[in-house]
Amino acid sequence: MKPYLRLEGIRKQFGNTTVLHNVNLDIREGELVTLLGPSGCGKSTLLRCIAGLTDLDGGHILLDSKDIVNLPPRSREIGMVFQSYALFPNLSVSENIEYGMKMRGVSKEARRKRSAELLELIDLGEKRDAYPQQLSGGQQQRVALARSLAVQPKVLLLDEPLSALDARIRKSLRSEIREIQKKFNITTIFVTHDQEEALTLSDRVCLMNKGSIVQQGTPEELYAIPRTEFVAQFMGSYN
Ligand code: ADP
Ligand code: MG
Repeated sequence: MKPYLRLEGIRKQFGNTTVLHNVNLDIREGELVTLLGPSGCGKSTLLRCIAGLTDLDGGHILLDSKDIVNLPPRSREIGMVFQSYALFPNLSVSENIEYGMKMRGVSKEARRKRSAELLELIDLGEKRDAYPQQLSGGQQQRVALARSLAVQPKVLLLDEPLSALDARIRKSLRSEIREIQKKFNITTIFVTHDQEEALTLSDRVCLMNKGSIVQQGTPEELYAIPRTEFVAQFMGSYN
């Protein structure tokens, strides 16, 4: 089957240090793939390259058969949510959600309708006029998710969106994200350093180490059939 998102020979260096070595990855439409790996292995850099926030030093990114490498971030139709909720503090919840649509010239009525639907989906309808600092961390991340979905991106990139939250909220938001992802059938890359999170959330896991994908497969495959000692140790199945 033709991939919806294809990463081909992605290479990135900072100064003399290569942080992404020839990364290749194919993702199907509607698939949720996690990039899992220790801190510093290049997960965020890879997402930033896909989003267009960082230039590549080599390789191609094909989205729906089109090479997007030379497109500016906004034209790539990619949504991104980061670990620390980067909501606009001076805008209300609904204004935050509508911001991207406003920038794209979507009419006020259409924006209102879409933000009301999204607010209902994330169960925050009654917070539409609240400001970010009046929300809990988990609520802020749900708004950030709604904001990125508002402009109907082709791909959603989530960079450790749950890492700053406490364990209980993290688990409930984890399943909420998965439900929303399935409902929209949105092609998603979820970055985490938490193997439990990766195993419970994904269709497919890509384990990274030192700027390369060292093994990819279903959660079961990675856990049960690690191909190297690094994979075994990281997945916790080493014996
Ligand atoms: P991860 O998200 O997996 O923790 P990163 O992609 O943030 O890893 O970082 C990968 C490597 O690239 C690290 O060694 C980091 O220090 C380095 N790095 C990331 N961004 C920059 C930058 N803007 N300038 C120099 N080095 C960077
Ligand atoms: Mg990171």
